[in-house]
Amino acid sequence: MTLRRWLGWAAAALVCIAPGVHASPALERQLDALLRVGEDRPAPALAAIDALPAPESPVEARWLTRARAEVAARSASAGEAQRWREAAVQAVRATEPAALVEAELQYLLALRAEHEDAGSMNELARAALAGYDGHCKALQPPRPDCEYRARWRLQQLLAQHARAQRAPAAARQHARAALELAIAGSDLWRQAWSESELALAAGHERDFSRAQAHLERALQLAAREEEPRLAARIALTEGTLAQDQGDWPRAHRSELRALALARQAQSPRYEAIALVNLSDQAVQSGRPAEALEHALQGLAAVKPLQIKRIERSLLNNAMLARVALGRRAEARADFEALQAAWSADGAIGRQVTSMREFGDALAKVGDLRGALELHHRETELSRRLMDANRTAALAELRSRYDREAQQRNIVLLERDNALKTTELDNRALSQRLWTLGAGVLVLTMVLMLLLVRRVRETNRALEHSRAKLRVQSERDPLTGLANRRHFQAVLQAGGEAAEGFRGALLMIDIDHFKHINDNHGHAAGDQVLVEVAQRIAAAVRSEADTVARWGGEEFLVLAPALQRHDTEALAQRLLQAVAGTPVALAGGGGLRATVSIGHAVFPLPPHRVKLTPEQAVNLADMALYTAKSQGRNRAVGIVQAEVADAQALRALEGDFERAWVEGRVQLRIDAGPGESAGRQSAGAAVVA
Ligand code: GH3
Ligand code: MG
Ligand code: MG
Repeated sequence: MTLRRWLGWAAAALVCIAPGVHASPALERQLDALLRVGEDRPAPALAAIDALPAPESPVEARWLTRARAEVAARSASAGEAQRWREAAVQAVRATEPAALVEAELQYLLALRAEHEDAGSMNELARAALAGYDGHCKALQPPRPDCEYRARWRLQQLLAQHARAQRAPAAARQHARAALELAIAGSDLWRQAWSESELALAAGHERDFSRAQAHLERALQLAAREEEPRLAARIALTEGTLAQDQGDWPRAHRSELRALALARQAQSPRYEAIALVNLSDQAVQSGRPAEALEHALQGLAAVKPLQIKRIERSLLNNAMLARVALGRRAEARADFEALQAAWSADGAIGRQVTSMREFGDALAKVGDLRGALELHHRETELSRRLMDANRTAALAELRSRYDREAQQRNIVLLERDNALKTTELDNRALSQRLWTLGAGVLVLTMVLMLLLVRRVRETNRALEHSRAKLRVQSERDPLTGLANRRHFQAVLQAGGEAAEGFRGALLMIDIDHFKHINDNHGHAAGDQVLVEVAQRIAAAVRSEADTVARWGGEEFLVLAPALQRHDTEALAQRLLQAVAGTPVALAGGGGLRATVSIGHAVFPLPPHRVKLTPEQAVNLADMALYTAKSQGRNRAVGIVQAEVADAQALRALEGDFERAWVEGRVQLRIDAGPGESAGRQSAGAAVVA
């Protein structure tokens, strides 16, 4: 197929692109065709792309600009390559994310590096591939043919590079990846190309049956494409495989066929490659003149393209041929030019190989001095190469270690971060808990305070009501005096002394009270009771004394400290207090009440017999009874009694008045107001 045919095909494809119709696949195929042309003839390819209609969309603009940049990357002009590369990056920026823009730039730089045979190609290609792969992996929904042309090209470049580096396994992997991309893109041309690359990789691995299988598949696919340039490439592959197997005649045949196909395809690139191989074979087969001729033809073919790698291989072969032909000066000039070129590119490996080949060639023609000198140079360079390799390996190791350390640091940082976050969360939680706890505590304390105050108040109220109850239980409700029960308790306390009950007792009874009730009513009786009680209490005065309501209209006074005379005086005061003034009645009018009093001071003289409180009260009651019987409104006090023992006491109690008459007891009688002393016991009465 000629360039004209290609352009014709391209033009035909263009007709299919109606304006406004999305015809991207057709456009891409068309651009593909132009790119292949551009590999060998950049200028017409660029012109053909320029001749295409203006892009319909930013996406189309991107493809067109990228195609130009791809062609320009492989052209002789570095300036043009750069200009179009920048335009392509600009175009891709209009439609694609930043990551893809970067990948695109690296892709175009890798193409340029490959053209210039620069060592940076490998890194650039890997970086570009990683960028595209990342972008494609993130696509939703996934597209297997995503950016497959660029990715295929990159895998292909990496496979060729690995093959050149004698790393057939890596070459196989890249070629395999490229094949898969070509299949994903349903791209037969690229599949054929990748099969051919796989055949070369298998040849390097010395698996010739696999190599043959790949080669056959490549041939089948290429047959459907009918493209001499592709056929030339496959013929080159076949030649290389034959050479690897030591089948020189077949290798030679294949290379010649490749040369013919390349010329048919107007591909100076493949023409030159075929001539590299042919010149190489001729040198190795001892046909230097033929080798030189092939090399010079190749150099002429490749000159406009300026493909350094091919040029240098051809120059190397020419150099070797010239040594063998005895044209040593020219050979040395070739040699030094090559060394300078490779040295400038830092390609020490190629320098060493070339040096060895040149040295061997010199040795073969008998220039041992020259060979030895080259041997020394080679040794020195080899050492530098080893150093460089070691440094590179060390740098690689170091950077890998740095990467890993960085990764470890990131993991540690993340872990640290997570820990800190958890710690902060915990702190916030505990702070919240503490606040809550403090709140609960304060609330509890307030509640407890309220509770304590309530309990205290209740206790106080309880104490108050208890005191009230106690007072109530001790008091007579009508008169407010101590009641009989309380008085008995007080008496009991006074009777616990060793000599028995001691103190003054005065028993007081209202006279004819029944009459008061009967004549003036029960209420008036109550009034009299209350009034008499008050007058008795007022007459007693001393805090130490107790006044009680003993019965209905009976009162009892206990004066623990009173002696006989004071008791008598008190009795007189009491008589006066009650009878001296009439009791005013509520219903109007007054009422004169009188009382009778019986009293004694214990223990009784002269024997001071030991008495119980009951016995003492009983004796006071007996004295009271005497007061009643003597005419009432009077007080009878026991001055002394002949009581030495219990029996005498019983006798006294049995008949008190008889005892008085018989003189066993001496009484003192005090008459109340308006009364005469009345009947007296013989010789025993003491009259006021
Ligand atoms: P004497 O001079 O002998 O003591 O005669 P008296 O009527 O005072 O004695 P008596 O024992 O015969 O009567 C006492 C009366 O006192 C009988 C009872 O009805 C009356 N009485 C007792 N307690 C009360 C009371 O709380 N109020 C009133 N109004 N009368 C009472
Ligand atoms: Mg009475
Ligand atoms: Mg009475």
